[in-house]
Order: sequence, then C-alpha cells, then structure tokens
Amino acid sequence: MQPGRVLIVGAGLAGSLLAVYLARAGWKVELVERRADPRARRFAAGRSINLAISARGIKALKRAGLEDTVMKDAIRMSGRMIHPVAGAPGYQPYSADPTRAINSVSRSALNLALLDAAAAEPNVTVAFDERCASVDFAAGSVTFVNDATGATRTATADLVVGADGAYSAVRAAMQKNERFNYSQDFLGHGYKELHIPPVVGSAAATGPHAPFAMEPNALHIWPRGESMMIALPNPDGSFTCTLFWRHDGAGSSFAAIKTGDDALAHFRKAYPDAVPLMPTLAEDFARNPVGTMVTVRCAPWSRGRVTLLGDAAHAVVPFYGQGANASFEDCEALVDALASSASIGEALCKYEDTRVANANAIADMALRNFIEMRDLTGRRSFKWKKKIEHALNRLMPATFVPLYDLVSFSTVPYAEAKARGAANDRAIRTGIGVAASLVVAAVAVAVLLVTKAIP
Ligand SMILES: Cc1cc2nc3c(=O)[nH]c(=O)nc-3n(C[C@H](O)[C@H](O)[C@H](O)COP(=O)(O)OP(=O)(O)OC[C@H]3O[C@@H](n4cnc5c(N)ncnc54)[C@H](O)[C@@H]3O)c2cc1C
Repeated sequence: MQPGRVLIVGAGLAGSLLAVYLARAGWKVELVERRADPRARRFAAGRSINLAISARGIKALKRAGLEDTVMKDAIRMSGRMIHPVAGAPGYQPYSADPTRAINSVSRSALNLALLDAAAAEPNVTVAFDERCASVDFAAGSVTFVNDATGATRTATADLVVGADGAYSAVRAAMQKNERFNYSQDFLGHGYKELHIPPVVGSAAATGPHAPFAMEPNALHIWPRGESMMIALPNPDGSFTCTLFWRHDGAGSSFAAIKTGDDALAHFRKAYPDAVPLMPTLAEDFARNPVGTMVTVRCAPWSRGRVTLLGDAAHAVVPFYGQGANASFEDCEALVDALASSASIGEALCKYEDTRVANANAIADMALRNFIEMRDLTGRRSFKWKKKIEHALNRLMPATFVPLYDLVSFSTVPYAEAKARGAANDRAIRTGIGVAASLVVAAVAVAVLLVTKAIP
C-alpha cells in the first residue's frame, strides 16, 4: 500500500512514537494535541513523575533510534525492596538473571524526546491546544476545538488514529455506533503522588546511597494488605512515591484520611521508616489530587479508516508497569500491518488481530499484580515461590521462564506470557503436591517400620 495522509489525535507517548514511525515510512503526518506545547516549558523546574520502561518499550524506542536518548538517564531497578512496618527492608530480585532490570525514566522527558523526534521529521506537522470534539467516520475527518479561542477546524486524512488516552474522545465517538463492545471498570483504589527529596545538603548527605535517601536500584514497596505505597528513583536523587489507597471506607482510604496532619499521623503508624525521608509529606498529601485507575476493554478498535491505539484502545491499571510498554507495541504492530497490507482496511484488521487478545491479557495480569504487590510481596510464601521459580529457571532456562520475566524482560506476546505463567503455577503446585505426598509416604513407612520393630 502506498503511504498516504494520517491524522493522529493525541501527542502523548503512543501518538508521538507512531508519528515518528509513520513519517519515516513515508506518510504525511498531522499530530494534534489538546494540551499546550510542553516544549515551551521544558526547562521549568518541577517534581519528576516517572514510569518504568522494560524490554517491550526499549525495543520500540530502539526502532525509532531513541533508545540512547531515553535510556541515558534511566535508573535500573533490578528488584523490589520491601519495607515492613517494623524491621529492616528486604530485597527481592525480579529475575534469576541479575543483569535484568526494569528502568525508571522521567515521563515528561520521555514525552519530550518522542515529540522532538516527531517534530524533526520533515513530513510531520504538530498542532497544540486543539481538542478532538467530534469524528466523522464516513469522511475520515475530525473536528477540533481550541477551548481558549473557541476556533474550530476540521481535518481529513486517509487514516485517523485515536491516541488520545484512557478517556479518548475518538473512542467515545465510536461508542455511539452499533456493535461496539465496551467496558470500563474503575478500581476501588485511587492514587496520590508524594515525594522523597534527595539528601544533598542534609544531615544524611553522607548516607550510603547519597544523593538518594534509599537504595536507588530497586522499586520500593510498602505492602500493607489492602493498600500500599511504592517509590521509584529519579536521576536527581529524589523518589516519586505513589500511595494506593481505597477511595472509600474506613482505615487506609482517601475518604477517611483527608488532611495532611491526619496523613502524617497515619504514616507514623503504617509507614514509619518513610516519614523521616518525606519532609513535605503533610503539604504534598493535602495539595496533590487523588487519581483514578481504570481498565478499558473494547472491540472492534477500528471503524472505517479510524482506529484506536494505546490507552485509548486498552487502558490498564499501572501495577505491571506495562501501559506505555504495551502502547509502544501497538505502534510497532500498526506500522507493520500498514507496511504489509494492500489497503487500510486490511491493515487495521491485521493490527487488531495481533493486539486485542494481548491487550486483554495485560489488563488481567495488571489487575492481578496489584494483589501481588500490595499483599503477597510481604509474605514469606511469596518469597519462597519466587525462589522456587528462579531455581527452576536456572535449571531449565529454555522451558521454565517465570511470568515476571516473560512480561518485563521479553517480548513474548502478553497472551502467551499469561498462559505460560498459569502453566508454571500448575507445575509448581503439582511439584509441591508430589513432594508432599512423598514426604507423607516416607513418614508412614518409617512409622510402620518403627511400630513393627517394637514388640
Ligand atoms: C499512576 C500511573 C503509573 C503508570 N506507570 C506506568 C509504568 O511504570 N510503566 C508503563 O509502561 N506505563 C505506566 N502507566 C501507563 C502509561 O502512563 C500509559 O499507558 C501511557 O501514557 C499511554 O500512552 P498514550 O499515548 O496512549 O496515552 P497518554 O500518554 O495519556 O496520551 C494521550 C494524549 O492525548 C491527549 N488528548 C486527550 N484527549 C484529547 C482530545 N480530545 N483531543 C486531542 N488530544 C487529546 C492528551 O492530552 C495526551 O497528550 C502508568 C499510568 C498511571 C496512571
């Protein structure tokens, strides 16, 4: 198929990467974003918000020639550091292979790198402050509104891609049509970002990890059963903490704990080792909003020459650190489908065929991983399960690969990873069952021998 004109709605992570790929494949790309141009305030100081990039994301960035640009400031996290209520934190490696790590990168730096790369392509135009307000599927056109000026305009293209995030306007327009399946499940938990500053200039500046207040090469977790806090390192020595609490109810919930002072009092009981590291905890808690988390599943992803990509097609909860990684995989799948098809219709069918089942699989695994992170990681049984998995992986590296490795350190399709993870669990359960039966049988034989030997 000859490359034509493509209109991408949303210059977030996925939309910007897709613009790079398609421009280099010869498409004339128009990238339109609702927000203001983030490049205008690129050097503005502000607190870092980070996200974890792993094998799938790195592969996609490499294809765009951006691996070095993005990964030069990444901080490797090779395991979880578990903080109990009392006692010292304990380290749990992610993989039997100590060279494997997920990577903490700045979300805004990643978005800027992708946007810069897109804008540097001669056949890309980027427009900001324009919100997709409606979509005409028959015409392949989108009407945009500038909310500040009230100006509207309509753009038409051979291919329209809705890369406008979890609350996608393009998807909302698709919903108004028949035979569009859609589900949206909000988690009962919300999240709030908090902050651990670097220790530079403070009394702890000579600590073992300075300028970091804690071990930088780990993802820190404070598992508390129903809730948790996590912290990821930033290049400036700070950590971005994210508190995951229920929206409603008593105990650790955003409904029950509303003020900064209440939060501080609660933290002294539930997260005591974090309190000395968080000098602005009360202010941050009072100021920062509570975010919601949603799982979106829909099908079909395409209507006519309009399709969905990234969170617009499949928002997932963040507990496997895969939302952006999966969205980058979508970009690769779409550009490959276009390159190998005779028409846009054929390409969109191929794209969906390769992605929908995988998107549903990572949505399921991300939900399950919340229970693992907030509850299981603090249990001894979990540590033993991981030790058994890593030992089996060392013994049989070709046949037994733990689920975490398949998801984070490989590009095996998510649906296949999920199935192999379930098979691993069955094998471990069967092995433990057989071992337990052998022990019981051995004890029974010993008892028989002893009782026979005693007259
Ligand atoms: C707390 C949290 C932590 C996360 N951590 C990780 C992680 O560690 N690793 C990971 O891989 N993923 C993580 N994710 C998920 C990741 O952020 C998303 O999967 C990723 O941003 C999806 O990229 P996207 O381009 O599809 O959507 P977005 O990045 O949301 O981009 C959508 C863009 O569309 C624009 N837009 C929206 N509406 C319109 C409109 N009507 N018209 C025009 N433009 C519009 C938006 O302004 C935005 O720029 C996390 C998510 C959350 C909430």
